[in-house]
Amino acid sequence: MFLLARLIIAALGGLSVSAYAEENVLNLYSARHYQTDEALYADFTKQTGIRINRIEGKEDELLERIKNEGANSPADVFLTVDAARLAKAHELGLFAPVSSKVLDSRVPAHLRTEDWYAFSTRARVIVYNKASVRAEDVRNYEDLGNPKLKGKFCSRSGSHPYNLSLMASVIANQGEAKAEELARGMVANFARAPKGGDTDQIKAVAAGECGVAISNTYYLARMLRSTKSEDQKTMEKVGIVWPNQATTGTHINVSGGGMLRTAPHKAAAVKFLEYLASDSAQGYFADGNNEWPVVESVKVANPALDAMGKFKADKLPVKNLAMYQAKAQIIFDRVGFK
Ligand code: FE
Repeated sequence: MFLLARLIIAALGGLSVSAYAEENVLNLYSARHYQTDEALYADFTKQTGIRINRIEGKEDELLERIKNEGANSPADVFLTVDAARLAKAHELGLFAPVSSKVLDSRVPAHLRTEDWYAFSTRARVIVYNKASVRAEDVRNYEDLGNPKLKGKFCSRSGSHPYNLSLMASVIANQGEAKAEELARGMVANFARAPKGGDTDQIKAVAAGECGVAISNTYYLARMLRSTKSEDQKTMEKVGIVWPNQATTGTHINVSGGGMLRTAPHKAAAVKFLEYLASDSAQGYFADGNNEWPVVESVKVANPALDAMGKFKADKLPVKNLAMYQAKAQIIFDRVGFK
């Protein structure tokens, strides 16, 4: 009997040690892969003693993976870009609500939902060829559908989340009819069938193949900071417009994340999300991809972003952006914006 008791105690002792070791780990599924993020994760481990196991992958693949792993998923936190993808994770029921005073006080209300948080923002701006298009003609997103720009508009695919989120914001701000009118006008103005990414559009605008395009700010900042002479020449030829400054403001998209419902390490997950909203993490997280922090008191000195100037951002809640994704896709399908 005595021996048995000792065996049980030994077994329990062993269990509690391994359980403790388990607790000091965070399994992070991330679609971010920037050099500066390394420093961020190292700093988190230094502050909390929690080691980070990182699984990196493409945004949609990671989402699929978590979905397929189901209840057995080791994932604690999912980080990705674009409100549409974060909303998809929410709709699939993958996220769990987090109760955190830190997150609620530091992340502005329009940049969080009940179960996921934005940690950085990027703007979707208009890029035009300074030789063939006048800035006055492309002040607003609506202008991109103006017949004046016939044969001049270039874009990446309409089904890409960045364009769906932009269209979702137009639906939210101006209604479906106006959004469809704009989408139809954009298609009528195409210089070529949609192809490539935002950087390809910037280059095509500079080369004169297109007169105007839309791009996320971090692609422009990347080119502005580039030391390659071809990139510098590209940026000399293009002008950048902050759209809709006199009305709703420039459309903002986000990079963000949340805790998974099946997270094995929930306490660590909350700690990590709170850490991402800290002053130092915000600077790293945003600036690593030439984005802006969501915490208003955090300032980042980024010469490329500073060079683009200040702007009025659309304060549309990220939740609403997600709400109109499906409608945005229906509109693009209807007008043939492939
Ligand atoms: Fe991107």
